[in-house]
Amino acid sequence: MGIINNNILKKIYRKIKEYDKIVIARHIGPDPDAIASEIALRDAIRRTFPNKNCVAVGLGVAKFKYYGILDKIEVEDFEGALLIVLDVPNLHRVDGIENLKYKEILKIDHHPKEDIIGDVDWTDESACSTCQMVAELILKTPLKLDTVIAGNLYLGIVSDSDRFLLAYTTNKTFKIVHELILKSNINFTGLYNYLYDRSLNEVRFQGYLASNMEVTENGLGYLIIPAEKIKEFGVDLATPSNLINNFNFIREVIAWTFISEDAKNSGYKVSIRSHGPIVNSVAAKYNGGGHKYASGARLHSEEEIKNFIKDLDEACLEYKRASISNLE
Ligand code: AMP
Repeated sequence: MGIINNNILKKIYRKIKEYDKIVIARHIGPDPDAIASEIALRDAIRRTFPNKNCVAVGLGVAKFKYYGILDKIEVEDFEGALLIVLDVPNLHRVDGIENLKYKEILKIDHHPKEDIIGDVDWTDESACSTCQMVAELILKTPLKLDTVIAGNLYLGIVSDSDRFLLAYTTNKTFKIVHELILKSNINFTGLYNYLYDRSLNEVRFQGYLASNMEVTENGLGYLIIPAEKIKEFGVDLATPSNLINNFNFIREVIAWTFISEDAKNSGYKVSIRSHGPIVNSVAAKYNGGGHKYASGARLHSEEEIKNFIKDLDEACLEYKRASISNLE
């Protein structure tokens, strides 16, 4: 699997070994990669070092309960702990660490670097998922693996790479998955029942998204989703983000976005995907960020929505122009 990461892996292992109290956290509004990576790493640390007090924090999400249960903690009990931050580069989006007086931060993440610079920091934008990185860490250090840990990591990798479809799926992804399966004997096809279970409401809502998405001349697909529609279909605010990858590979669409009204927080939750134009630079202008081709943002007014759509449409136009001039 190559030796390029071995130094950082050793440093991470040593740091984990050094602390008796460890808090593992990830981003707000977690997806399977975030939840699975934190629970898998917690369980691997607990199996390897049964005397350490290691917890995984953040708000639980009912539909992800098959990954395992998160811990409720009293922050005072974890003063001076090692904080391990997974799958998130910005401090304001870390869930569940309010008032925690940690001593050092260890970060493992596949997003572009932002304000969290870990005392030990492993940032690898080429990794398809944080679960891929945690799996590599466990496979190449004395951290222990079992079937449950491996199953969680496998689901995180499959989910974040969109079943090995997205461009950052690499040779290394397959090597790590191969080793995970070999070493743990997981029933990997059986696990899809958890990952891909969905309600009829969600499928009907996907039909609504497909029927109502506008597509500009420059290949931007977009839809502003009113809060009443989310209610009418019996889905929730996370559903558009869960479904957005299903709109990949549409010939007329090179970037696409769902702008969902968040009535509770008087604003709009935005998901963006692309198979060409770089979209995280646009997201960064609108309280957001993320990966080059998969980002999120928050909007607060109709004026901002208009400007945001215009900026994304311009990114599509620039991308098309550049693609044409490359052909000439
Ligand atoms: P989503 O569309 O919610 O699946 O998010 C896509 C990517 O963008 C993920 O890597 C998120 O962590 C990131 N992201 C989503 N919303 C934001 C935000 N408001 N600020 C920074 N990053 C975000």
